[in-house]
Amino acid sequence: MKDFKKKLFVGTLSLVMLFNLAACSVNKKQNDAINYDSNNISEKNGVFMIGSNIAESENGYYFMAKSANWSKRFIAYYDKSSNESSVLCSKINCNHSLEDVDTECDAYVDGEIVSESLYYNEGYLYFIKRNKSNYMCTLCRVSADGSEHEIICDLKETPDARNSYFSYVVIGNYIFCAISSPDTENETTSIIEKINIESKTRDTIYSYTSIRADIVELSYHDNKLYFRQSESAGLLLSDLYSFDINTEVCKKISDDICSYIFFDDKLIYWKSYDGIYEETSKGDVNKIYEVEEDTVKGSLVYNGSNIYVLNFYSATEEGPFIGLLKNGEIEDRFYCFENGTYVPMYLTNDRIFAISYSQEGQYYAIFLLDEEGKIKDIVRTDIIG
Ligand SMILES: [Zn+2]
Repeated sequence: MKDFKKKLFVGTLSLVMLFNLAACSVNKKQNDAINYDSNNISEKNGVFMIGSNIAESENGYYFMAKSANWSKRFIAYYDKSSNESSVLCSKINCNHSLEDVDTECDAYVDGEIVSESLYYNEGYLYFIKRNKSNYMCTLCRVSADGSEHEIICDLKETPDARNSYFSYVVIGNYIFCAISSPDTENETTSIIEKINIESKTRDTIYSYTSIRADIVELSYHDNKLYFRQSESAGLLLSDLYSFDINTEVCKKISDDICSYIFFDDKLIYWKSYDGIYEETSKGDVNKIYEVEEDTVKGSLVYNGSNIYVLNFYSATEEGPFIGLLKNGEIEDRFYCFENGTYVPMYLTNDRIFAISYSQEGQYYAIFLLDEEGKIKDIVRTDIIG
């Protein structure tokens, strides 16, 4: 267990970053004016940590699944009303099961899926795969029933699978995608691209160059893109920026940020070793939580009723926990390793999805929440994670 724990956190942290003051460098290009629904908040709100491969639609949840022998990857679906798991396939008489699929099955994905790249928007499931045929990271989408597969574009070469990080949102007919390649000792440039889904044209709308430049956790709120940016691959200490899609005005909001979410119309961010702050749309800032020894940094998640924290970098013996952030306190702490081994992945309005590690294998599990947002039960699915 100890070894696993170490690996998990080293793995998680290696994906995340360090801080530094950074200049905004914007590649000026002609931009169509975009005015989307200001309530369209990205699904970043539900993601507990980098690595989550779960996406939510109106009727269910999509998972990146593995076959029982881990040799194949495919898309599984969990229905909200029936609570049943299935393979995302529309073919009659297909030979699939949650244990294995063949390469002809609708759900089969040829190539490794890039971490945290599963995303649902208006009838389509999007993901990025490492394309074995051309060694590119390729952005793809599948219709909600699994029947139609489409390649949108190749994003980047992948000489080394560990050396790139992507974060994107789908807004109307556009995909805004942050592309980073942090693992080098030399200067690198991370960019945000605007991709037109129909014409497949791509424009770089923002770029950032530094030693190990990173742009992560891209989200969208009120016609602005929000993201964390860092250099030198720092550990969860990055600068939070907003970028207005129409005016291309880039603004630094705060430094040393390890996580942020939107809650109603407020921006909530966790400043490492300091506290959790809320900023209103008018720019008023209040500190709503003071960090303690075991909450110096972590991840914020909001499900429409409650804000949860995950202190996945914990200096204390008890290890990481999920807790409810209420009235300046973190309540109802659930220790993920003490109660079996659970890695929280995705939060919805009434449940938390986690990966459960047991002797039987690695499965998706669900923490069912009561009306107050406390964990009342844990159920394992049949989907291998
Ligand atoms: Zn099938």
